[in-house]
Amino acid sequence: MAKYTVTFIPGDGIGPEVSDAARRCVLATGVDIAFEEHNAGADTLEKTGSLLPEQTMASIRKNRVALKGPITTPVGSGFRSINVALRKEFDLFACVRPCKSYAGVRSRYTNIDLVVVRENTEDLYAGIEFEVNQPQTTALIAEISKFSGKQIRPDSGISIKPISISGTERIVTFAFEYALKHNRRKVTAVHKANIMKHTDGLFLRVAREVAQGYTGKIEFEDRIVDATSMQLVQNPDHFDVLVLPNLYGDIISDLCAGLVGGLGVAPGANIGEFGAIFEATHGSAPKYKGLNKVNPGAMILSSVLMLEYLGEHKAAQVLQKAAADVMREGRAVTYDLKADRNDPGAVGTKEMADAIISKIKTLRS
Ligand code: NAD
Repeated sequence: MAKYTVTFIPGDGIGPEVSDAARRCVLATGVDIAFEEHNAGADTLEKTGSLLPEQTMASIRKNRVALKGPITTPVGSGFRSINVALRKEFDLFACVRPCKSYAGVRSRYTNIDLVVVRENTEDLYAGIEFEVNQPQTTALIAEISKFSGKQIRPDSGISIKPISISGTERIVTFAFEYALKHNRRKVTAVHKANIMKHTDGLFLRVAREVAQGYTGKIEFEDRIVDATSMQLVQNPDHFDVLVLPNLYGDIISDLCAGLVGGLGVAPGANIGEFGAIFEATHGSAPKYKGLNKVNPGAMILSSVLMLEYLGEHKAAQVLQKAAADVMREGRAVTYDLKADRNDPGAVGTKEMADAIISKIKTLRS
């Protein structure tokens, strides 16, 4: 029996190409992993009649670790998103997105190395919404006016922003524990507590309480989200690990991906008490499906995070270095990493993975 069994979800669109590249790279590190393949998404719906088949869920439930390619969110299916469904089902409350500069990846900045920890389950993304002009919405508006004495325009839609003490405690604790484990120096809690006292204010208060438990080990500070956005652009070196509620986390993690050169190199992990799903930040880019064209880097770097999570630090280092070397050399890289995107010397997804695998072999020998 293999040391680890990991559920492998190829996804759709460019998913199968980039996830296969990542799987091959992981196997090349020599870690004893068996990949159990199950799928989800639009292609699976056609084949099995289900967007998220029970076999896929059962496999994740059993293995507790999954490597997942991007999945298209079908429009008008009544299914909000498979990705959201997976995060909810397994209570993967922390979205971790390291943003690191790699030589060879064009960007305005160099030497960026920060980690965004986003709360995944609460906030305005809880999905509690009331549509404009519906009877429930009108009734809710009347109740709010009664309780708060404040008027909401009758032609309003409403989204609810719940932020809890327990939800905040666990995400901030996660950020500190992550910082400790990964030799980071500082955690910055990002909020808008000056305006939203009972949600962001609560987030800040709880973050400060959690931070006290790490005094002398990890530095702590807090920042307002708008100021953070500016400071990230002006002085990204100031930051190390950022912990944010869901909405700000979503926006700031894209900003940080932009600081390091974009989607091709933005890995991600969704982690909870139960287990973890590793996936690139980018989506299924359907227009590139089957063309062997897109950059497998983000998916490969997501599998580096998976190896770290499994405790396979040596293999994680080797894979990260192999990917970094190939990008720095700039030869066997996909079109998006070439100075001229029409450079005929650009290689395909598979060939870039082959180049990384050959580096892995050299590094291991
Ligand atoms: P996208 O990330 O799929 O693509 C946007 C553009 O980014 C692409 O057209 C391409 O130019 C570029 N790009 C993306 N990945 C790339 C790569 N690996 N290499 C080179 N270029 C790359 O975003 P979208 O078009 O907004 O979303 C498409 C679908 O993916 C939607 O259905 C969306 O819901 C879904 N999605 C899924 C996930 C996920 O599974 N975790 C995440 C985001 C979006």
